[in-house]
Amino acid sequence: MPEITLLGTGGMLPLKNRFLTSLYYEQNGQAILIDCGEGTQVAFAQHGLKLSRISAICLTHLHADHVTGLPGLLLSLGNTGRQEMLPIYCGTTTVMTIKHLLYVTGGLPFDVKIIPISEKKPQELHFTDIDPLLTVRTLPLSHQAPCLGYQIELGKKPEFLPDKAKALEVPVQFYRTLHSGEDVWLPDGRFIKASEVTGPPRQPLKVTYTTDTLPILAIADFAKDSDLFICEGMWGTEDRKDSMNEKKHMLMQDACRLAVKAKAKRLWLTHYSPAEKDPHVYEEELQMIYPGVNISKDGEHISL
Ligand SMILES: [Zn+2]
Ligand SMILES: [Zn+2]
Repeated sequence: MPEITLLGTGGMLPLKNRFLTSLYYEQNGQAILIDCGEGTQVAFAQHGLKLSRISAICLTHLHADHVTGLPGLLLSLGNTGRQEMLPIYCGTTTVMTIKHLLYVTGGLPFDVKIIPISEKKPQELHFTDIDPLLTVRTLPLSHQAPCLGYQIELGKKPEFLPDKAKALEVPVQFYRTLHSGEDVWLPDGRFIKASEVTGPPRQPLKVTYTTDTLPILAIADFAKDSDLFICEGMWGTEDRKDSMNEKKHMLMQDACRLAVKAKAKRLWLTHYSPAEKDPHVYEEELQMIYPGVNISKDGEHISL
């Protein structure tokens, strides 16, 4: 079962009680980390998470609040005894920044492979070592620097129906194969289709993460039917709209409107301006736009 933790909810700079926006997705004991601003490794420790579980890091863009935590986190990862290669996925214009950040580590006991992703068109990445049904998609966003949104999609096998298998007198040792979708020949010569003992196809699980962007319509399509939509909301007052347009960020209200369009099941707001001392003051107003809104706090966690 995927475990999702929002390590921090801040934008621009870390505060005493608010680390920078970063997402931890764990499944089968392996994790994907999205973004790594200053202090991300401290947030790991605070939320009781293990750096050693990181299988891959994905970065949205080269701004300091999303990448400068990398050298420290990688050095600490080296101290855990890690030897296997670590892939870091990032937009093509972020590659050089990551190379410089690796340089300041002075060398690591494991290889890092920087994998450039197009910032012009959506891409699909596969993480078969974590789960063959796990796919990560990217979406080019609209920010001051080229920026990527990420979506983690986990396919779900249809439900296995033991009553149907029993009625067909299928021996138990074939249950697993049939549940995996494979048809089988039984020793008595009968052919059993997987679809005879499984339920209808199920919707995949979708977790969408978009931060540092104007509220472009493409985000609503990208986040369509997300089980969890994590989206920036720098400010909660509409009078900041012009400034947000200029800086290419969005308001909490914009994120709520996108969640409505996307028909997302849940919305977690994040990447608050350091000057927004208590984003909860907007809760009532935001719920009028999108009732499923959650004004996230650091360490927000869900099992999906
Ligand atoms: Zn940012
Ligand atoms: Zn940014």
